[in-house]
Amino acid sequence: MKDMAFEQAHVWHPYTERARPQRLHRIVAAEGIWLTRDDGGRMIDAMSSWWAAAFGHAPAPLVQALKDQAEVLPHVMFAGLTHQPVIDLTRQLVAVMPAGLDQIFYSDSGSVAVEVAVKMAAQSQVNRGHPQRTDLATARGGYHGDTWKAMSLSDPETGMHAQFGRALSAQHFVSRPPIPFDAQWSEDPVRNGLAEVETLFRTHGDRIATFIIEPVVQGAGGMHFHHPGYLRGLRALCDHFGIHLIFDEIATGFSRTGADFAIETAGVTPDILCLGKALTGGMMTLAATITTKELAATVGALMHGPTFMANPLACAVASAAMDLWKGRDWSARARAIETQLAAELAPARAMTGVRDLRTLGAIGVIEMEAPLPVGRVHRFCMESGVWLRPLGRLLYAMPPLSIEPDELSRVTHAMLTIAKGL
Ligand code: PLP
Repeated sequence: MKDMAFEQAHVWHPYTERARPQRLHRIVAAEGIWLTRDDGGRMIDAMSSWWAAAFGHAPAPLVQALKDQAEVLPHVMFAGLTHQPVIDLTRQLVAVMPAGLDQIFYSDSGSVAVEVAVKMAAQSQVNRGHPQRTDLATARGGYHGDTWKAMSLSDPETGMHAQFGRALSAQHFVSRPPIPFDAQWSEDPVRNGLAEVETLFRTHGDRIATFIIEPVVQGAGGMHFHHPGYLRGLRALCDHFGIHLIFDEIATGFSRTGADFAIETAGVTPDILCLGKALTGGMMTLAATITTKELAATVGALMHGPTFMANPLACAVASAAMDLWKGRDWSARARAIETQLAAELAPARAMTGVRDLRTLGAIGVIEMEAPLPVGRVHRFCMESGVWLRPLGRLLYAMPPLSIEPDELSRVTHAMLTIAKGL
């Protein structure tokens, strides 16, 4: 059997049915913003490979760090042992985190970082004398990953895990934060959605361990950008009701929104913060759950230990990625991308079938009235040399921050062509 036929016969891809495999493009190389196919064609990776390759694919210092580390210590278990790459990476992370967030638990994917965060929160509540506080709360429209608890914290009705229904343990949901990022902040708690949070906390707060939210950008749950005022209100309510606050910055961290971390726009610090994706420049699988000494003290021994926790290869690459990130003002770059995305995508507003256009940092979203035809979009991507993967009704770009203006214009042109109806 030829390779691609064999692949299609045996390999199961994400979010697809085995009975209806999607047409695949075989990628043979990735460098900078470019993906090279086996037919020699090149495509701009306007998705940053699921938002991870924030500084472009395979930056030379990261590749070198990987090679160097592979020669001395590719892996070692992390219980009772440690290594230099994790020490180096931790120094870098502690230096850029808000004051107080300096206790880091490493895991191997964003979803697991979220699982770890909710475990920390629940275990801390039990040890603080609140064993009944085991429920979790969140806002609709979120996405926190595909593992069991992470799924149950993603929107049960509109989210991609709806088919699991009652098998997902019921959590407490409030409405999606209603005030958009760039709208006038309302001090009215009803209009800004915080009255609903307060009611939830007053009614069920004594059973709730934690509230989790993606700060400013709710990503895969609908690509909505909410006002930072909501996060400030959440912080105050969580403090008042003794509920731990988790910010999931797995998608937004490392300059994506035009700030180093999205929480900066709100000026509040969570009790627990999750990072992933761009942490290794998108090259290796590594995530971090970061909390305070005070919270860590109430957790005691955290009953979690992934086999590949703090893998030295991933930590060495992440350390090099942090150097790369700190060596340039990537947040300014993201803001420049936002300006260009907003200007060049503006014609979409007048198109039939387009419901909304949103831009924030290096994120551009055209929301359609109806789901996009994925097969046709993929064929068009092949021909136009711009890789985009719609999410239902959402056509969006999250390009590497290293993209040049003329290259970004190719992306926006492709998006407008798709939105127009191909
Ligand atoms: N949290 C957020 C906000 C995400 O966007 C994602 C992935 O898209 C995850 C968690 C899950 O991360 P991973 O796919 O690495 O498990």
